[in-house]
Amino acid sequence: MDSLQEAAAADETLDPPDWTEVEALSHRIVDDAIAYLKDVRERPAWREMSAEVRSFFSAPLPRSPAPAADVYDDVARNLMPYPMGNIHPRFWSWYMGSSNFTGALGDFLAAIQGSNLGGGNHAAGLMDKQVVNWMKEMVGFPASASGTLVSGGSMANIIGLTVARNVKAGVDVRERGVGAMPKPLRYYASDQVHSCHRKAVEALGLGNRALRRISTDAGLRIDIAALKAAIAEDREAGFRPACVIGTAGTVNTGAVDDLQALASVAAEEDLWFHVDGCIGALIAIAPENRSLVAGIEQADSIALDPHKSLHAPFEAGCALVRDASQHRNTFAVTPEYLESTPRGLASGEWLHDYGLQTSRGFRALKIWMALKEHGVEKFGRLIDQNIAQARHLTRLIEAEPALELMSPTIINIVSFRHRLDGASEEKLKAFNTEIMLRLQEEGIAVLSDTTVQGRHCLRVAIANHRTRRDDLDLLVSEVLRLGQEIAAATPG
Ligand SMILES: *Cc1c(COP(=O)(O)O)cnc(C)c1O
Repeated sequence: MDSLQEAAAADETLDPPDWTEVEALSHRIVDDAIAYLKDVRERPAWREMSAEVRSFFSAPLPRSPAPAADVYDDVARNLMPYPMGNIHPRFWSWYMGSSNFTGALGDFLAAIQGSNLGGGNHAAGLMDKQVVNWMKEMVGFPASASGTLVSGGSMANIIGLTVARNVKAGVDVRERGVGAMPKPLRYYASDQVHSCHRKAVEALGLGNRALRRISTDAGLRIDIAALKAAIAEDREAGFRPACVIGTAGTVNTGAVDDLQALASVAAEEDLWFHVDGCIGALIAIAPENRSLVAGIEQADSIALDPHKSLHAPFEAGCALVRDASQHRNTFAVTPEYLESTPRGLASGEWLHDYGLQTSRGFRALKIWMALKEHGVEKFGRLIDQNIAQARHLTRLIEAEPALELMSPTIINIVSFRHRLDGASEEKLKAFNTEIMLRLQEEGIAVLSDTTVQGRHCLRVAIANHRTRRDDLDLLVSEVLRLGQEIAAATPG
């Protein structure tokens, strides 16, 4: 061997010296993963970690190697038994999907194939665009629209609100910044709007006050007359009304703003119409309920969340923009090291021109594989099923004198509380919070809570393809049992 070859032989790599060992371990991991999902219903919906488990996560930076099998054993012992729990059939907190095995395989294969979805002429890039096209079709957007897969709904909303700002700024805001805008912009959304919009307007340099929260009607939908009044008031005061954000499925109660009315207001007032459809946009594929989101197809931009309604493993959000050139003009930059070539790898479209990331993960594959396996119609039926389950739970609550429904059930979110005779709002909150925490600690079910029109309530968001109706029957009986136990133990 000459010295060059010797040097090459000594070069290190992350690949294993012996792939047969990797094969055995990998088969074991897949077998364990299948067993894990198969038995998920038998495990607690959530459990607290011991001090020992907690301390495992303060171990120092490893400096020397360990066999991969030992590494996996650590994971199997300390990590896998303590998930957030959203894969469990009785997890109904906040609002998230419950993942799926095929999607997990997609994430694995995406990592194996390893492509960077910043762009380029390769198959993953084509698949990324195909999935965006499928999303456009699902919500009724034209084929000429553009879109991008992002980390989640928050990023998808930022994309839409950024395009809105740049289109409505009145100056070249990319070049000159918000300080050069002739008039300060105003955005409008209902007082139920998700908190990510506040972060978005802050990050966009518009400031929190640029997002006016408009009051809602009894159904917690944006009050159209109040919206129009706010727009007129702002014009009078020298602001530039720029964007109205409609929410298709609010996070508090699942209220769906009147999207058709908002589209008309936006057209009359020359506003950008953005729809936060993180919860509800894909109701458009649910045959029994799709009329709830009629008008969404008129939006200028939509944020939706495949890691919610399509149960894609995290992370998977999607921003869609009706006018592809407005979208691209907001983000495209071509530095010298990313110039396209007429042929070859750099001849594909640069997908990073549609958002803020440069390197992008291959999020499309997990969505693509699950959609191919089940077909979009099944995902639509699952959304209908969750809504029907929410109505079932609503009927159980209404039939039970100890329980009180706290807001109308529109989609798959139910808010309620346990009554407590003569108790103040403060006591009711403490009592219901205790019920919620015991449900978690006993591993029965995971709910969250919120405040609706000044009143604290428990919240059941059923975005879960594993939930069955008897899980909701159990929830009601366990809430009643815990309510009795806690009330009996609480003096006065
Ligand atoms: C979940 C949600 C978001 C944020 O989406 P992430 O995927 O969590 O970033 C935004 N708006 C609404 C209405 C949501 O429900």
